[in-house]
Amino acid sequence: MINQKMYELGSRRSVIRELFEYGKKRIAEVGADNVYDFSIGNPSVEAPEAVKEAAVSLLENVKPSTRLHGYTSAQGDPEARKAIADDLNSRYGTSYTGNNLYLTCGAAASLTICLQAVIDSHSQNVLVLAPYFTEYRVFIESRGAECRVVPPALPSFGINFEELEKCLDASTAAIILNSPNNPSGVIYPEEELRKLAAVLERKSREFGHPVYLISDEPYREIAYDGKKTPFTACFYPDTLVCYSYSKGLSLPGERIGYVLVPDTMPEWQRMYAAVCGAGRSLGFICAPTLWQHVITSCAPLTSDLSIYARNRELLFGGLTEIGYTCVHPDGAFYLFAKALEEDASSFCERAKKYDLLLVPSDDFGCPGYVRIAYCVSGDMITRSMPAFKKLFESYK
Ligand code: PLP
Repeated sequence: MINQKMYELGSRRSVIRELFEYGKKRIAEVGADNVYDFSIGNPSVEAPEAVKEAAVSLLENVKPSTRLHGYTSAQGDPEARKAIADDLNSRYGTSYTGNNLYLTCGAAASLTICLQAVIDSHSQNVLVLAPYFTEYRVFIESRGAECRVVPPALPSFGINFEELEKCLDASTAAIILNSPNNPSGVIYPEEELRKLAAVLERKSREFGHPVYLISDEPYREIAYDGKKTPFTACFYPDTLVCYSYSKGLSLPGERIGYVLVPDTMPEWQRMYAAVCGAGRSLGFICAPTLWQHVITSCAPLTSDLSIYARNRELLFGGLTEIGYTCVHPDGAFYLFAKALEEDASSFCERAKKYDLLLVPSDDFGCPGYVRIAYCVSGDMITRSMPAFKKLFESYK
């Protein structure tokens, strides 16, 4: 028998992937210069030269002891884990060691591992803060738990504490927080994280078990106007951090990231064992070895993020001048704009007539908006403005 749920997941692409494929088809028909594909979060900025140099040097100087194409231990090479711990300690004044880290094939693997590690029974639920990365629902429901959506506080798109308290109950295993947020670009401020920690501590005491915070941080370094993303693990001890080098270091295709189980978590050793067990049960052992070794020397680096900052200004400035209402992004590389009609999907269909590929917000749990990924060339943003203007005017 074929698993029906898996069949449904696999036979229907996500809206984002669907648009991305449509874009490729349109480019073949009308040429790359005439299609404005804002659909996917694929970094447009190259990884720094040091990444290439590290990879080339590893490939050219293979020492038998390195076993470059061999397995590492399930949780990752000790030197790579130490390099990541050192990098985190120098940024956040923490005292992690390699024993707090489990290397993964990117943030998606980190998230499924963490969910697998904390979901114990099918009667549990996991809270997600809207707007949320669409795959959270898939990851949570595939573990048999309920995905509960907490609507945002408007107009800030911060945490809506009243709704959060309504959603939390004794069956809540965890809450997923993503900052900087995909798709809103919001960085949850320190005051909100402190308030969130206080709510979760109070509820954990009341329920007699911890409500874990799964902090999904692939955009952590992509922050603008001198802002820094507060490091969630410093606010709430029962935090699991999911990180990936896909975005800040522009390595999405290399599938490399980690789970951090902070030593401030009361039961961190048991949790670390559960993370290893979850990795084992999902077959996520030994992240790609070459890229583990690259990270050993490149963990503190990022690609040139100033390019996204310029894109943000071009896009936000251009669209607000035309008359669109947009959330001003603090980080990541997405602009969240109000659709010009109630049904965002029908707005995005109309945008396609102008070869503007925008993602409707329904699957992000926040209807009525569109996500515009600006990890594209600045030139494409400039060239797309007349199309955005025509789309706007078509609603007059
Ligand atoms: N979490 C968020 C918020 C994302 O936007 C993405 C990818 O776009 C992921 C997780 C998955 O990241 P990775 O490609 O590292 O698996």
